Amino acid sequence: MESAATPTHCPYCALQCGMNLTPLPQGGVEVTERADFPVNRGALCGKGRTAAQVLSPEVRLTVPLVREGGRLVEAGWPEALDRIAGRLGAVRERYGPDALGVFGGGGLTNEKAYALGKFARVVLGTSQIDYNGRFCMSSAAAAGTKAFGLDRGLPFPLEDVPRTGCVILVGSNLAETMPPSLRFFTELRENGGTLIVVDPRRTRTAEQADLHLAPRPGTDLALALGLLHLVVAEGRTDEEYIRERTTGWEEARAAAMAHWPEYVERITGVSVPELREAVRMFCEPEAAMVLTARGPEQQSKGTDTVGAWINLCLATGRAGRPLSGYGCLTGQGNGQGGREHGQKADQLPGYRKLDDPEARRHVAGVWGVDPDSLPGPGRSAYELLDALGTDVRALLLMGSNPVVSAPRAAHVEERLRSLDFLAVADVVLSETARLADVVLPVTQWAEETGTTTSLEGRVLLRRRAVAPPPGVRSDLYVLHELADRLGVEKGFPTDPEEVFGELRRASAGGPADYSGLTYGRLARENGVFWPCPEEPEGSPGAGGHPGTPRLFLDRFATDDGRARFVAVAHRESAEEPDAEYPLLLTTGRVVAQYQSGAQTRRVAELNAAAPGPFVELHPRLAARLGAADGDPVAVVSRRGRAVAPARITGAIRADTVFMPFHWPGEGRANTLTNPALDPTSRMPEFKSCAVRVEVLGPAE
Ligand code: SF4
Repeated sequence: MESAATPTHCPYCALQCGMNLTPLPQGGVEVTERADFPVNRGALCGKGRTAAQVLSPEVRLTVPLVREGGRLVEAGWPEALDRIAGRLGAVRERYGPDALGVFGGGGLTNEKAYALGKFARVVLGTSQIDYNGRFCMSSAAAAGTKAFGLDRGLPFPLEDVPRTGCVILVGSNLAETMPPSLRFFTELRENGGTLIVVDPRRTRTAEQADLHLAPRPGTDLALALGLLHLVVAEGRTDEEYIRERTTGWEEARAAAMAHWPEYVERITGVSVPELREAVRMFCEPEAAMVLTARGPEQQSKGTDTVGAWINLCLATGRAGRPLSGYGCLTGQGNGQGGREHGQKADQLPGYRKLDDPEARRHVAGVWGVDPDSLPGPGRSAYELLDALGTDVRALLLMGSNPVVSAPRAAHVEERLRSLDFLAVADVVLSETARLADVVLPVTQWAEETGTTTSLEGRVLLRRRAVAPPPGVRSDLYVLHELADRLGVEKGFPTDPEEVFGELRRASAGGPADYSGLTYGRLARENGVFWPCPEEPEGSPGAGGHPGTPRLFLDRFATDDGRARFVAVAHRESAEEPDAEYPLLLTTGRVVAQYQSGAQTRRVAELNAAAPGPFVELHPRLAARLGAADGDPVAVVSRRGRAVAPARITGAIRADTVFMPFHWPGEGRANTLTNPALDPTSRMPEFKSCAVRVEVLGPAE
């Protein structure tokens, strides 16, 4: 029985704050400060502080459930696993391997994400695997890969932020989503630097800014182009840098010059003087950064939008230089690692491409299979969910709750219900697990060892601190047992360190190379930044590549070592307001809840702080509608209707309403959202859709 304090990391967001866990004699686990982790230095938000409450058997699953006569009833592990393997096998037999789907999550450890991708391709033989990280930062990943040849959320540690001259933070409310990170931005301002926040809402983060730009939702692309236009017009480009370190400038420049400041003001609502002030603040210091989050990324033009912000960095020489660069603030706990090791539809471990013959040969070699036996790329997350019950007849889902978190959620729920068979492995009986034919209770962060990769690209060891309740098994155990039942007896170990050893070999030589990492090293060094290749025997660095905290300082990861400008132009959102739906809806998070709320809605303190959904309305809009604070209002889009109390605030634009998306039921924001996909990243347009608001009467 473990009893001393175990240093580990928070289960929730990609900041992966360090914390100590101590099992208490009377039961339960105490979360305490861990000052030695440089990212949070002991600070935790309310979600992290209360995370251990979800370990309690009172709020989580402890017994497998199987559906009998329409109801979920308790069952033993052998019966539940037999049923899953039997039904998956039968569906494959009847419809072929691509009738089997697998859906993963950005909260799964690297080991689980790796094993899940291998399970889909080697055991099931299906191409139909993707994960909820597609909803989170795939547009930034696509744009980063296009421009720099490599996607790592932040190409520098967060500790560089206070030492730069200016940060433009685009569509991130980090004061609520990852509060301990705010201190880096506070220190930036204390050091004389400036913070520009781009957000349609005056969020808690925007309140900290020296300049807040509030564009209309869906117009961040035009905003970035307008800034670049002014950079050129005011002679603020870095010509030597452009010449030496980039390609494609002329086309990108021409595209930006078509976006006159006055035109951009009309599109975005951001005034020309504000645009000029932003350019001055960004260009005057020696170094500056642009950081994006879900605001610009969750759009049907998210890849181009992020590309436009990257162009701004490149034109001003602010990428691949000390204290300068573009970065994406990844959201989910292992959102970064989750997109590197093979649970994405088009990807093999080590951030390799599934359609690259050399990558297939390498990974198939590690897996001991014929490269030709590996399926090709499959559908993206929303497209996979949309195909349930038609092309895809059975689904294995781990660590995700799409009934609450997917766009057009009522349709996704209906698709899940139409499956021949649904198996869910989760910690709690989520809204999605409630629809399953079999539910498996699995271990969570404090009960298992594994690695995650933070938003900085820092690979971390999360250690087991406490034994799981009897009857709860790990996801790795589930995959091992299912593989065995489906005829693959070897290759799915249950020991995470053994899985990591194989992941290291599979990633060796790939863009996200983990081959130089070991659990021992991660524990000793408090995390290591990838790429970290294994040094060959006899080489000067044998025994330890130092890892790569800062990328691109000498060259970018493209073939010629130069960053690539991408010529982009403004275009409208997939759905613009009209007479029937005259307003824009944008969605986001609140500080006390996390993603679909499956875990945080089970913590009393967090529920007291954020008990349910609400609809933010500007006072002018509220007056026009006749809504008072607290009145129930219905928000209606082409996909459905959500009801929640009005919250009247001057912190939002009058043409826009906001809903947080953490709750199921009648207040589910994702009932309304638009699944229009970005053509490159296949990311849905969560951040903008056309709605109308109906006042349902006074509050009771
Ligand atoms: Fe956990 Fe994120 Fe809060 Fe840190 S900021 S304690 S990682 S939820």
